[in-house]
Amino acid sequence: MGCSTFIVAILVLVSLHGASCRMLAADAGKERYVRADLSQLTGCRRGQNQAGLASLKRYLNHFGYLDSEGADEFSDEFNEDLEAALRTYQLNFNLNASGVLDEPTVQKLIQPRCGVSDIVNGTNLMKSGRHRHIPGVGHFVMHYAFFAGMPRWPDSQRNLKYTFSTDNQQYGAEQLRSVFSAAFAKWAAVSPFQFAEASDGEVADLELAFYSGDHGDGRPFDGPGTVLAHAFAPTNGRLHFDADEAWLPDATGTNGMDLESVAVHEIGHLLGLGHSADINAIMYPSIGAGVRKVDPNSDDVQGIQVLYGSK
Ligand SMILES: [Zn+2]
Ligand SMILES: [Zn+2]
Repeated sequence: MGCSTFIVAILVLVSLHGASCRMLAADAGKERYVRADLSQLTGCRRGQNQAGLASLKRYLNHFGYLDSEGADEFSDEFNEDLEAALRTYQLNFNLNASGVLDEPTVQKLIQPRCGVSDIVNGTNLMKSGRHRHIPGVGHFVMHYAFFAGMPRWPDSQRNLKYTFSTDNQQYGAEQLRSVFSAAFAKWAAVSPFQFAEASDGEVADLELAFYSGDHGDGRPFDGPGTVLAHAFAPTNGRLHFDADEAWLPDATGTNGMDLESVAVHEIGHLLGLGHSADINAIMYPSIGAGVRKVDPNSDDVQGIQVLYGSK
């Protein structure tokens, strides 16, 4: 069954059950990808032409998997480049690297995730599966990664100060402070760093902010959508959250996004970690609604200690 036929079949089934059809988002032509588009692409493969594929291409371009198609907008054609990009994506996320938009791949694509690219200037930051043998302990497959060139904080900077540059309407300042204090403590426990909020007049190394949409750094947020937050490699120090997400201090079992979990992940970027292909690692790029994951696992700890040594 071709993917167009498949989509029609789904729409018919949805109509039969009396539910409303999900229409393509009206702004699909704009410079961003739309989750509603991606969810309708199940079954698509090379050689097909399907509305929504341009949106998928924008997504894969945003995260470093696909070069732009010249000056023009991306087309809805499932071409060779898209297939290759999809294969790389599937390898990074431990999916069957078929280059076909199977159900597990689509489900992964629509899962909320970090806005930091998985591939930068052709360097795959999720290069997975390096083997490491620790005598007397065992054999491990490590998945942690660094930004290209391994940027890190210099040895003279192990006491990092942070500041909040905008308020989030959803929180009292005290609640925000307690979430971030807990998130920073997770990394302080496994690295030589100490973190504290900058006092008035003190220069901060790290700046935490909540923004909506385009906020001037070339990485616009997408409203309540796929991208949750992003942060920059050392020693930039900027960490931005998408203010339009349904953030909760503890989202366990809810439909909201867990602020502390995403904070721990983004702080990992601030310290120099890239994305890990280990699904249990803090540095894995995506996280589901209602999921709380706040403790660095062995892969995260190995990564940070390769950069800075242990506590
Ligand atoms: Zn990330
Ligand atoms: Zn930003």
